Amino acid sequence: SDHSLDYPLSPQDIDWAQYYPELAAGTGKVPEFADVGCGFGGLLIALAPLFPDTLLLGLEIRVQVSQYVQDRINALRVAATAESSSTDKPPHSFQNVSIVRANAMKFLPNYFGKHSLSALFFLFPDPHFKSRKHKARIISPTLLAEYAYVLRPGGIVYTITDVKDLHEWMKKHLTEFPLFEPVDEETLRSEGKGPIIDAVYHSTEEGRKVESNKGEKWLACFRRIQVSRS
Ligand code: SAM
Repeated sequence: SDHSLDYPLSPQDIDWAQYYPELAAGTGKVPEFADVGCGFGGLLIALAPLFPDTLLLGLEIRVQVSQYVQDRINALRVAATAESSSTDKPPHSFQNVSIVRANAMKFLPNYFGKHSLSALFFLFPDPHFKSRKHKARIISPTLLAEYAYVLRPGGIVYTITDVKDLHEWMKKHLTEFPLFEPVDEETLRSEGKGPIIDAVYHSTEEGRKVESNKGEKWLACFRRIQVSRS
């Protein structure tokens, strides 16, 4: 249960410098990429060097798993610091990646302000197969309103799963929601988001497991649309 977790009352109450000491202290920078249910952090670690000026945040509900990711990031930061003193070309410092232990289904707007995100990832989410459990799915009409709130117009929701039924479910709900429009992989690649797509397919621990089991993966991406006010 998440009852014992402390949550920030609002994004304004968060001191991001505690998560990104070198990049957020005194800069007002906030996370722009959020990996919901980040698991062991493979996507975050893969993307961090590709987007050195962007703050990436993982949200993970499991205590030990989130602690593991925290330790992993700390170790990468320490290794980079050690290495940078011995080389001319400094390695990526992993100062732009962090994690919180959080129930993303309940508290996403406590972490992210309106239109603050440019990318939101739902990679191999728990499928909750039984229909009475569908309300536990991370993509649902109520939650989509929150995702549309935290994503800026033009921002992208990336989903991928090896469960065909869940893929259809996510696609259906996102397509039906008025603030999202489907965007295909080719279009995203033509916009320079190929490295993100590649990481979505191949860099998460769950994605790698699916690969070694020769399973199929279904990708579905959506753009947060701009609503014109008249
Ligand atoms: N995205 C990772 C990957 O592709 O390797 C992990 C996939 S794993 C099947 C799903 C993850 O979502 C688990 O680590 C689980 O603990 C986490 N999770 C489930 N519900 C969550 C919630 N409400 N908030 C945050 N994390 C959640």
